[in-house]
Amino acid sequence: MRFVNVAIVGAGPAGVGIASMLSETDIDYVVLEKHNVGSSFLDWPENMEMITPSFPSNAFGQMDLNSIASLTSPAFTFKKEHLSGKEYAKYLNKVEILNKINIETNTEVKNVKKADNGWMIETNKEKLICKYLVWAAGEFQNPKIEGITGIEHCIHSSAIKEPHNLEGDDFIIVGGYESGAQMAIEMVKNNKNVTLINPTKVDEVDTGDPSKVLSPYTLNKFIEIKNSKNFSEVIGIAESVTKDGNYFSVQLEDKTIFKSIQPPVCATGFSLVQKPIEQLITSRDDGFPLLKEETDEFYNQDNIYLAGPSVRHDSHIFCFIYKFRQRFGVIVEDILDKEMYDINDIVSLVNNWKQNGLYLSDLSCCDQECVC
Ligand SMILES: Cc1cc2nc3c(=O)[nH]c(=O)nc-3n(C[C@H](O)[C@H](O)[C@H](O)COP(=O)(O)OP(=O)(O)OC[C@H]3O[C@@H](n4cnc5c(N)ncnc54)[C@H](O)[C@@H]3O)c2cc1C
Repeated sequence: MRFVNVAIVGAGPAGVGIASMLSETDIDYVVLEKHNVGSSFLDWPENMEMITPSFPSNAFGQMDLNSIASLTSPAFTFKKEHLSGKEYAKYLNKVEILNKINIETNTEVKNVKKADNGWMIETNKEKLICKYLVWAAGEFQNPKIEGITGIEHCIHSSAIKEPHNLEGDDFIIVGGYESGAQMAIEMVKNNKNVTLINPTKVDEVDTGDPSKVLSPYTLNKFIEIKNSKNFSEVIGIAESVTKDGNYFSVQLEDKTIFKSIQPPVCATGFSLVQKPIEQLITSRDDGFPLLKEETDEFYNQDNIYLAGPSVRHDSHIFCFIYKFRQRFGVIVEDILDKEMYDINDIVSLVNNWKQNGLYLSDLSCCDQECVC
């Protein structure tokens, strides 16, 4: 049986980011990746772009919002603010090469169990033991449709790779956050009729936090289509979907019904890929994993950490790269502490990560809202 000190599951931005930090130390680690590096990004719809802008601002102490490792910037590499999924996956490949990251692709983690000296991991290839496990399996590969009956009649937005090429002219989209709004924009621009159902007005803005409202990038595109004759917005909550003959019917909580020939598109989000570790997770009231605030270890567990967009602490949502990357340093620092790494080396690494937006331990600063 193979032994590694740290096993990281998933080679998306979270896994590659944490591995980049470990590659600054002499702690041995491996990244286990089910498909390829950046495979979630390779699966994005063709015309989808990052909503968070990239800018090569690193030299002035403001790391590119989409960077996951020091000295790198997607904007610098691609000379673009809004990268496509394929471009971002290529950026991750470049970071892998730059930092000589040890990634084993086509290796799926199937089972995780506690072992005497750490965690026993079973992959499709072998069994290995690690002392520390970082779960960075992301959300994209776990589309979510909750609270609606008849989901077998729906299609999740992530399954639609070319919205402009869909057959048919009339579409119902359930959900008006980023994916739903972007899908509607793409369809309306291609002369399709869209009815978008969302609990609140899509462009209602009562916070500056893009984890809760549309990003400025999408909002501006949405404003261009919202008065189009091909677009209508319905405030309501979808309750059930049925199929009668050639028609799909979406019924709202207030019993209003909308019909379409095409299956309704559910842009209802994603949730953490957690199958092999679900027995180790205690959930918060909102369904996200409960984590120890100091280290991002799963509650009531030691040496198993969560990295990525499902990280939550109180009301703080870390769903964007520029947010969740700030917790990478907290995880790696905990591992270095436990491995009795030289304290001066830890301080020097942490200072560097702080300067690069890769370390945030005091969450009180995340409460500040914009005032103008
Ligand atoms: C459509 C969409 C657009 C987005 N746009 C932005 C944006 O513009 N800016 C931004 O900051 N964020 C954006 N996000 C948020 C997004 O969640 C993250 O930026 C990013 O994908 C999360 O990185 P990750 O490394 O946690 O997960 P992922 O990128 O999903 O990587 C997880 C990896 O784990 C692998 N994996 C899963 N299960 C296993 C297993 N059992 N064994 C081995 N490997 C496994 C997967 O194959 C995958 O490669 C967007 C999300 C979506 C869904």
